[in-house]
Amino acid sequence: MRSLGIGLIGTGFMGRAHALAFNNARAVFELPFNLTLAALADADTKRAQRCASAWGFAQAHGDWQQLIDNPHVDLVAITTPNHLHYPMAMAALAAGKAVYCEKPLATSLQQADAMRLAAYEAGVVTRVGYNYQHNPMIAMARQMIDAGELGQIISFQGEFSEDFMADPASPWSWRCEVEHAGGALADLGSHLLAMARYLVGDVSKVCADSQTVHAQRPASPGSTEWRSIAVDDQVHALLRFANGARGTVSSSWLKHGYKNHLSFEISGTHGTLAFDQERLNELRLFRAGEQGFQRLLAGPALPGYAAFSPAAGHQLGYNELKTLEVQELIMALAGQGAAGTDFEAAWEVERLATALRLAAREERWVNVSEI
Ligand code: NAD
Repeated sequence: MRSLGIGLIGTGFMGRAHALAFNNARAVFELPFNLTLAALADADTKRAQRCASAWGFAQAHGDWQQLIDNPHVDLVAITTPNHLHYPMAMAALAAGKAVYCEKPLATSLQQADAMRLAAYEAGVVTRVGYNYQHNPMIAMARQMIDAGELGQIISFQGEFSEDFMADPASPWSWRCEVEHAGGALADLGSHLLAMARYLVGDVSKVCADSQTVHAQRPASPGSTEWRSIAVDDQVHALLRFANGARGTVSSSWLKHGYKNHLSFEISGTHGTLAFDQERLNELRLFRAGEQGFQRLLAGPALPGYAAFSPAAGHQLGYNELKTLEVQELIMALAGQGAAGTDFEAAWEVERLATALRLAAREERWVNVSEI
C-alpha cells in the first residue's frame, strides 16, 4: 500500500482535533493509503516538539515553510488563525501538495479566489474543515431532502450561536481582528452558510444586518488595557435560494446559554426536519398529517456511525465528525471522494459571506451574482 505523509500546522484547538482525527482514521477505517504522521509545525517550537512526541509525529518544525518543504509530507493540514490560511495554502499548492485547510478559507474574497485558482492549477485535492456536514445524520437529512420526502423545500431557518464572547471582559484574540479573522460571521456563520448551501443549494440574494455590541475588549485576560473591536458580534440575515426557497440565518458569539448551537429547521410542502449540533445524534422529523415530531436517533444502520460503534444510542461526538471528514479526504486522494468541501465550494461560502457583509453595510438586498 502506498504511504501518505501528513504534515500538520498548528497545535491549538483544531491542531489537536486534526491530530486525533488522523490517528483515529487509521485505527477505524480501511484506508487506501498507509497514513504516516510525518511532521508537525507550530510557531512555538517547544510546543511543536512536545505535541509531535505526544501525538505521534516523526518530526517537529518551528517554521511552517520547512514542513511544506519536507519531502515526507504529501498532505498539508492547516489549523492556524484565519489570516495564515492564504500564505500557507498557497505555498503548499505551489509545492504540489494536497491541502486540508480549516475554515473559513480566507480573510478576503480576493484571497479565496486566488486559492481556488491555485488549487485548480495545481490539480491537487483540497478540503476545508466544514466538519458538521460529515455527521451521518446530516447525510440522512440530505438524502431525505433529495428523495423529496419533505416535498418542495420552501424554508431554511438556521442559526449558529455560541456564548464564548458573551462576557464583555472576554479578552481580545486574533478572532477579533478584521484582517486576521472576521467576527461571528466568519467564525460561526461560515459553518451555517456552508450547511445551508449543502442542504438547500445556491443562494441568489441576501439582505443582512450585523452589529458589534462590545466595541472594546481587554487586550489580554484581566488586563486594564483596552483594544478596539471592529468585527461583528452578531449578524441576522434573510436569504433567497436559487430554487425559490426562502431562508433566515443568524449567528452570534454573544448568545448566553448556547455552546455549539448550529441548528436549522428545513420545511417543505410535506414536512419539516429540525437539527441542533448540541444534540448531534438526533434529527427531528414531522410529516404532514402526523400528530407530532418523531425523534430519529443515530445508530449503526448508518455506516459513518457503525465505524465507531456497533450499538445504537452510544452516540458520536465532535471528534468523530472530524475523523469522518479525514476519511472522506483520504478517499478523495484515492479518487473516491464524495461529499467534501473543496476550495471551489469554500470560495462559494466566502462569496456568500461577502454578499451578507455588503448587504449589511449598504442596508439593501444584494444579488450574490454582484459579488
Ligand atoms: P488556536 O488559537 O487554538 O490555535 C492556533 C494555532 O496556530 C496555535 O497552535 C498557534 O501557535 C499556531 N500558529 C499561529 N501562528 C503560527 C505560525 N505563524 N506558524 C505556525 N503555527 C502558528 O486556534 P483554533 O481555535 O485551533 O483555530 C484555528 C483555525 O481552526 C481557525 O481558522 C478557526 O476558524 C478554525 N476552527 C475550526 C473549527 C471547526 O469546527 N472546524 C473549530 C474551531 C476553530
